[in-house]
Amino acid sequence: MSQKSTLKSNPDACPLASKCGGCQLQNMTYERQLRWKQARSEILLKKFGKVSKIVGMDSPYHYRNKVQAAFGRTKSGKIISGVYQSGSHRIVNVDSCMTEDETADKIIVDIRSMLPEFKIKTYDEDHNFGFLRHVLVKRGFSSGEVMVVIVGAEPRFPMKNKFTDALLKKHPEITTVIFNINPGKTNLVLGKREEILFGSGYIEDTLCGCTFRISSRSFYQINPVQTEKLYNKAMELAQLNENTSVIDAYCGIGTIGLVAAKTAGNVIGVELNPDAVKDAISNAKANNAENAHFYCADAGDFMEELAMQGEKTDVVFMDPPRAGSTKKFIDSVVKMSPERVVYISCNPETLARDLEYFIRKNYQVKRICPYDMFPQTNHIECISLLIKKHE
Ligand code: SAH
Repeated sequence: MSQKSTLKSNPDACPLASKCGGCQLQNMTYERQLRWKQARSEILLKKFGKVSKIVGMDSPYHYRNKVQAAFGRTKSGKIISGVYQSGSHRIVNVDSCMTEDETADKIIVDIRSMLPEFKIKTYDEDHNFGFLRHVLVKRGFSSGEVMVVIVGAEPRFPMKNKFTDALLKKHPEITTVIFNINPGKTNLVLGKREEILFGSGYIEDTLCGCTFRISSRSFYQINPVQTEKLYNKAMELAQLNENTSVIDAYCGIGTIGLVAAKTAGNVIGVELNPDAVKDAISNAKANNAENAHFYCADAGDFMEELAMQGEKTDVVFMDPPRAGSTKKFIDSVVKMSPERVVYISCNPETLARDLEYFIRKNYQVKRICPYDMFPQTNHIECISLLIKKHE
């Protein structure tokens, strides 16, 4: 089954699929998607050992806890909001999306309908004119808390308090509203400046029995149902006990490290994004994890520094972005000589490259377990376990 077969081959395909392009596997039923991902994982990773059966979702819809909508107008002046057509800046109007949280979609559609009454103009990026660029909604699936971020192109937000009140009236489930100012000519959704219009400015959610604070800019896994399965597997492979020392690299808001801290002796987390590190530190406090400490740095620089000081560790969790890790990072891990490295990857191509490098450095690949974190799309997540060889 190729990715190119027609949308007609899936009777449940989304009506927007050909315009939007965000869900590359809409031409396949979910069963077929899983087979496609299994085959793709095997092509790239089989040379390292057996690839386990991919873990899919029971219900592969509306799994995204974070929804981002761009706002604009059609040529005839109609206000639209939704996603950019793949590879372009043309907005595809979305009322409801198969992968997005349904509450978030309803909030975005209601904001769209409220704009004329509040005389809020959408932003026109070609002429650098107007106000509303994006709306971002994050919902804690287990807490039910909802964050709405209104992204404006300038600091003046007309009638912001009245607008917030009207929105809360329509959606009492919203627990915080943030105004984010993003004036630049940029592809980034969020700007640096923020003003809290309602609530605390963050939401909380629970994963694997730990509570996490999530702010507008920090990374949080977008599919919490699959994330729990993924983290449980990561913990199983790590075989932690009260004497284990752990490093959680590319740690985001500290989720993996804090789940590990319940069992391990001590945990050190490292992450580049300062907002995420702030969240990780307050998450450690909220979960009484006195044995977990988080640092803001490039993971490669940080590990090199620890390795140079002669530090050792028992387990390394690493969860880098799509580009994968670096030789500097892996060389330093090897110097710190952990028995186990649990590598979580969202890109099997860079995973294959990095596993190859670990093997040259005397590590052995023991397990490769694909997870479907992003149903309907062609993205594949894998956990891999590496063990130090003892000659
Ligand atoms: N482990 C976390 C986050 C994984 S996403 C979780 O499961 O939620 C990858 C993270 O790597 C992001 O938070 C990103 O900000 C961070 N990152 C990207 N490049 C980095 C680098 N060079 N050093 C440290 N962290 C980095």
